[in-house]
Amino acid sequence: MVEPAQPMTVTPKAPINWPAAILLTVTPIAAVTLVPWYGLTHGFSVAAWASFLGLWALNGMSITAGYHRLWAHRAYEAHPLVRFVLLVGGTMAVQNSVLVWCAGHRTHHRHVDHVDLDPYSAKRGFWYSHIGWMLRNYPSGNADFTNVPDLQKDPMLQFQHKHYLLLILLTNFALPAVIGWAVGDFWGVMLLGGLLRLVVSHHMTFFINSLCHMWGKRPYTDENTARDNFWLALFTWGEGYHNYHHIFQYDYRNGIKWWHYDPTKWLIGGLNKLRLTSKLRRVPDFQLKKAEVEMQLKRAAAYLETQAQPASQLEQWRTRLNQEYTTFSHTLNEWATLKEQSIELKKEAFAQRLHEADAFLKHEFQALEQKMQAQHTRLATLLTRLRQSVHS
Ligand SMILES: [Zn+2]
Ligand SMILES: [Zn+2]
Repeated sequence: MVEPAQPMTVTPKAPINWPAAILLTVTPIAAVTLVPWYGLTHGFSVAAWASFLGLWALNGMSITAGYHRLWAHRAYEAHPLVRFVLLVGGTMAVQNSVLVWCAGHRTHHRHVDHVDLDPYSAKRGFWYSHIGWMLRNYPSGNADFTNVPDLQKDPMLQFQHKHYLLLILLTNFALPAVIGWAVGDFWGVMLLGGLLRLVVSHHMTFFINSLCHMWGKRPYTDENTARDNFWLALFTWGEGYHNYHHIFQYDYRNGIKWWHYDPTKWLIGGLNKLRLTSKLRRVPDFQLKKAEVEMQLKRAAAYLETQAQPASQLEQWRTRLNQEYTTFSHTLNEWATLKEQSIELKKEAFAQRLHEADAFLKHEFQALEQKMQAQHTRLATLLTRLRQSVHS
């Protein structure tokens, strides 16, 4: 007897998002064909290359300093003139309106890595997190505007949202056309400053959602896939320090060490000197070090778990690690006590003694920061020794 065929259940794929699919397919194909062809047959002027670099920087930094750190995370405040320039540059990057972009990005932070809720979940693979999420209308891609009530109140952002199509046409065609005409290389600027700039700027930003969740180190947290990667910072205007960003998203910096390549942080800081940005939010050094030390302790414990050394040797390492745990919780307690003390002291101190109290507190807080830093350095050496002792 022949069994009746089972009806096949096929999950319907999300419908194609045609405007995005066409834009994200046609522009790269046009760029890789037209740019080399024109370069070989006509050549590009220096001005055309300069327009590529200048406009890419404008687009890239408008997304990082504007869309991302200013609007999505409110990491600082900016003068209306700065907001205007960032809005023009961000519009030109063609990554949707600030309202849509930020609604999606805030969801990304809230539900990072969740396969159904994170709009560009890295858990769904490179292609999806890089570009695939935009090519179809996935439910997770629907902008949740209840996320952005603060931004909806801004008339400048409302205007951009309402006239978005017209504004992207103006910035992507009219602006390069005017520049091209002014420098006497119309097609050169249209192709490099217009077309190639758009494609490069698109994919470098997309790397933040894809590669920055795949390649690199996790010094602050391993609770999500976000990574710190210097090489990616080079191409993303400083957003490569993504592991830090996911744990402390309100910091205006992504690369927190002074030598970390984060041009967006330098731009915001530089504008602050000119009084064009204000209220720059920074996570206190103590909190950063605390997160790092916590991660080191976690790593060391996990490493010991996997090792099959002689029991006595392992016991020694465990004791050593327990001491470090105790030191760590002591420092945290001291910090909490000092915080309470500082509130009391400031309440009680008379005006003339306030300065004295401040100086005392500053000194005490710094001492605890140094203590945490010292433990961080000590644990780094300890981890190296631990790994060596196992392999020797
Ligand atoms: Zn992310
Ligand atoms: Zn973010």
